[in-house]
Amino acid sequence: MSFLPALVLGLALIPALTLPLSAGKADGKLDLWWCDSEGGGSTLIVTPEGESLLIDSGNPGGRDSARILRVLTQTAGLRQLDHLIVTHLHIDHFGGAAEIAAQVPIRHVWDNGVSDADPDGNRNSTWPLTSKPYRTMPVGQRHRVEPGTAIPLQAGKTPISLRCLITRQQPAEGLYPVRKAGGSAPVLKAPDSSDNANSSAWVLEFGNFRFFDAGDLTWNVETRLVWPEIRVPEVDLLQVTHHGLDVSNHPRLLAALNPTVSVMNNGPTKGTAGEVLATLRGLPRLEAQYQLHRNRRPDGATNNIPDAFIANTQPGTAHPIHCAVAPDGGTYSITLPAGPVTRTYTTARRR
Ligand SMILES: [Zn+2]
Repeated sequence: MSFLPALVLGLALIPALTLPLSAGKADGKLDLWWCDSEGGGSTLIVTPEGESLLIDSGNPGGRDSARILRVLTQTAGLRQLDHLIVTHLHIDHFGGAAEIAAQVPIRHVWDNGVSDADPDGNRNSTWPLTSKPYRTMPVGQRHRVEPGTAIPLQAGKTPISLRCLITRQQPAEGLYPVRKAGGSAPVLKAPDSSDNANSSAWVLEFGNFRFFDAGDLTWNVETRLVWPEIRVPEVDLLQVTHHGLDVSNHPRLLAALNPTVSVMNNGPTKGTAGEVLATLRGLPRLEAQYQLHRNRRPDGATNNIPDAFIANTQPGTAHPIHCAVAPDGGTYSITLPAGPVTRTYTTARRR
């Protein structure tokens, strides 16, 4: 199906046509939502110009795509998805995409390139079948992400950019000033040979505000961003990598990013590793950690954060976490809609 019929079909199926075209344009804010895909990736960004970007699309099966579409069409009032970025080819990151494409037009898809060959290298895998909806879904244009790729975004009063820091294990050159790393070489762990290692990592900038999302980038590959030179900027808001698993989240990378606030897209029984929570707690500038879910594994008695910072403390709810960045990028507010509880933080480089 070409792009145009997809557009017509999408408009026909979405009941939100009477809503305003954009929630962002009216207030000049940049909005981010962590839609709940219970341990998948599904971060929706809406710019002040009303452009939408979804970084990863949750799992297949209707649940996650419905939650993403609810925020996109009803909360943000949008009729299309301008950019879908798939950080890597695991089902909890691309699985909901075809279901979204069946409901709204997706203008651009950005990934590391997809074929019928299993990206994890497994023989006799179900990959050709499970990936087919994603590989064949109707979209406007498909793009292969490269280190340094910048997603084209409409400029408003406050400069905005979303750029790729690393993908397929290759760091970008020249995006940020390079600093020599001190100390000894970073400690490595057993390699993860799956496609997690090829995840693309992104920095969203809006004025002085910076947000980091690295999909499921793994521990050893993370060190390429901080050794022997530090190639990442300091950021305000960190999406905790890989749902908070300890095969990711190298302390040297987190120290270099030096965030003020972290958000973990964990599930009730996925992510939230004790080692990662301890690393986050030890960061010098960190003011707050958020989680989508209370960790319900047996280790949840110790490996959790206070309920006041968790979007879903009880079974059966699927509240997103929302961040609204002020029109000048100088402050940002995180809301847990269940409350609602809103807390406001100051962008680091404005202090
Ligand atoms: Zn994942």
